[in-house]
Amino acid sequence: MEKQLAADLIEFLYKSPTAYHSVKTIKEILSSRGFKEIKEEEKWNLQKEGKYYVTKNDSALIAFTVGKGEVEEAGFKLIGAHTDSPGFRIKAKPEMLSENKYIKLNTEVYGGPLLYTWFDRPLGIAGKVALKGKSPLKPKVELININRPVVIIPSVAIHMNRNVNEGFGVNKQKDTLPLLGLINEKFEKDNYLIKILAEELKMEADEIIGFDLGLYEIEKGSIMGINEEFISAGRLDDLWMVYAGMKALIDSDINASTNVLVCVDNEEIGSHTAQGADSALLLNILERITIALGKDKEGLYRALANSIMISADLAHAVHPNAEEKHDPTNRPVLGEGPVLKTAASGSYSTDSYNAAIFEGLCKAAGVPYQSFFNRSDVRGGSTIGPMTSSRLTIPVMDMGAPLLSMHSIRELASVKDNYYTIKLFKTFYNS
Ligand SMILES: [Zn+2]
Repeated sequence: MEKQLAADLIEFLYKSPTAYHSVKTIKEILSSRGFKEIKEEEKWNLQKEGKYYVTKNDSALIAFTVGKGEVEEAGFKLIGAHTDSPGFRIKAKPEMLSENKYIKLNTEVYGGPLLYTWFDRPLGIAGKVALKGKSPLKPKVELININRPVVIIPSVAIHMNRNVNEGFGVNKQKDTLPLLGLINEKFEKDNYLIKILAEELKMEADEIIGFDLGLYEIEKGSIMGINEEFISAGRLDDLWMVYAGMKALIDSDINASTNVLVCVDNEEIGSHTAQGADSALLLNILERITIALGKDKEGLYRALANSIMISADLAHAVHPNAEEKHDPTNRPVLGEGPVLKTAASGSYSTDSYNAAIFEGLCKAAGVPYQSFFNRSDVRGGSTIGPMTSSRLTIPVMDMGAPLLSMHSIRELASVKDNYYTIKLFKTFYNS
């Protein structure tokens, strides 16, 4: 059961090399489980106990099941996570030549990846392309996934970089440009990548106007460890919590409250986009749900007053080779269950009120739980929790499953924590 869930998660990650593809994957799964797509531009006609989802800009998705109760009394129960992961994006006009022989691509860094982990790995290219549409204001969009080893970022040999093991500085404009191929007689530098995309999409190159493309490791994740206790895979942050929330929403019963799964993009670059958490997106959707259920604006505010959210993003487990980096008394480890994250700085939205709810839910679910604080001399990260809490003015607990190697091209998690987290989320939606 636990291993099956881990294999299922690895499959989900493999099908989701970008935020766009994760939304596509979630849509396919939700549709196969009776969820109906509703569009932002259409009038909504929602039924009690109905199951729906709506997407934004191809990279955010909000799914919900309408509760049996009156929404202003029963409120919303939300789980939120993000669809994006740190990595590289390909710039326009990316072709660059070296020694008149090598073709490399001009890239920029998205978010905060552990750069050294991206070297010497066969990489694929995926994302979305914008195509000529019927009018300039309506370009068409198509997803693309070149799921083959097409580029690689080669290391400089240690013989030419003798001090590399004492510290590894990486210049993002110079050292990390991926190699695409070698020049041959057919090579035409202009629009070289666009032509590859056109071939892949089986269309003319001049139909492609622009693209949002990233690199990703093509090797699939794996279950590993002496007792197969680990999950090694890319993009666990934060598609793991997206997956766990989706699984819980699908498998939970419909009760009084309206249960919502919030999958937003661009957390790794600050969330300040139309499809990110620091936007009007979620509040607009909750308002529209309330209105479509026949309520007024006061109904929305009453519903919010009765709502609660889990902000689900991963937590740093104590590192076996860097025990000193962690807080002296709050020391989560892999395999010991979901982690509640708290920070006096407000970079996490947990307080004692929603901490009590977290603890109560873990006990009800029968799963162990842990706590995380930053070391007081370490700044740490943040999540969509604080901004969502302040925009909706509802209690949001910040939690996540424990993880090692956060923001590496391959992160490390535990098979058991996947099972525990899904169980916790299901208990939350069922409460
Ligand atoms: Zn994250």
